[in-house]
Amino acid sequence: MTASFPRDLIRQEVANLPTYNAGLAMDRFKATYGIDCLAKLDSNESPLGPSPRAIEAMQQAAAGVARYPDAANMSLRALVGELTGTQPENVIFGNGSEDLIGALFRAVIRPQDHVVTICPSFGLHEFGALTFGARVTKVPFNDDWSFPVEALCQQLQRKPRVLIFSSPSNPAGPAISEQQFRRILTAADPETLICFDEAYVEFVAPGQRFDALAVLAESRNPAIVLRTFSKAYGLAGARVGYGIASDPQLIQAMMKTRNPFGVNALAASAAAEALKDSAHLARVVAQATQERERIAAALSAKGFACAPSQANFLFFDTGAPAHILAEKLRGKGVLIKAWQEAPYENWARVTMGSPAENDIFLGAL
Ligand SMILES: *Cc1c(COP(=O)(O)O)cnc(C)c1O
Repeated sequence: MTASFPRDLIRQEVANLPTYNAGLAMDRFKATYGIDCLAKLDSNESPLGPSPRAIEAMQQAAAGVARYPDAANMSLRALVGELTGTQPENVIFGNGSEDLIGALFRAVIRPQDHVVTICPSFGLHEFGALTFGARVTKVPFNDDWSFPVEALCQQLQRKPRVLIFSSPSNPAGPAISEQQFRRILTAADPETLICFDEAYVEFVAPGQRFDALAVLAESRNPAIVLRTFSKAYGLAGARVGYGIASDPQLIQAMMKTRNPFGVNALAASAAAEALKDSAHLARVVAQATQERERIAAALSAKGFACAPSQANFLFFDTGAPAHILAEKLRGKGVLIKAWQEAPYENWARVTMGSPAENDIFLGAL
């Protein structure tokens, strides 16, 4: 810190923000705790990694990094368009879907705008909006971990600029049903932007999955669905995600507010191959689902209340401030995420790792 750093340089909205509660990288874990990280279960990464085809594509792309990548990401957008039945003009890629949340807020939020989300919530849904001076209302889940549909409908009466939430919810785990989603949309003012974050949609059981794009197309609302390669596709370190919008005008605006070359050449080539390897994705989802059922049963057998999850993680009540358990587990080489958001400070999120990692977690617990 320098004595001369100007007191008013940093905008108040930014100064007020907490530091992002990111997971701990493996090398930093070793440097901090002096032991190896045996089970890194704090960031919802995939224990099976990416498709081998994606790794090969990155190796090949490495030879071409002297050139800038395609800023418009045209071939990726066409591929996603083909796979989802949308036009490439309605698709945008970013440096992770977190980047697209920022681009979206930069494009639409004015100071004092109202943004509605769900609590517990994915940090950036709230903090990304606060950065631009928005007022954020967080609607808590119902006590039985069903989506707070009626409370959300009530908030929508206030005609917020944006409704943003993830389904399956990070960190809680439940996925919204098509019927609940439709109910929410009927309550929304036609000018409210709906941002539906599907970071974990690949993990939802086929019988409960629905086509959010089709449902949103029936509503009059401007909307964007966000997806990522960081979770089921195992490419968190490559940083790539995409959005599909109801209207190309939203994409055009976000293309101006995002970082133009946010998707680097390696990430772009990996994403394309990952999308094509559905067999790898199926293996990832099958293992995560099996482990989730096994670990959920083990947690409740040990007396920990656990939210019902459709994702690759579980959210459970540790019975005391969760940082205490998280710290004890770190001493045994196990990383989980202690939640820091009121009133869920007793809750922690644990990622479904490999069966061996999950056993280490259960043993340490
Ligand atoms: C992990 C996650 C993302 C995306 O992360 P990126 O790595 O930036 O693509 C977005 N939303 C939610 C809810 C997440 O959990």
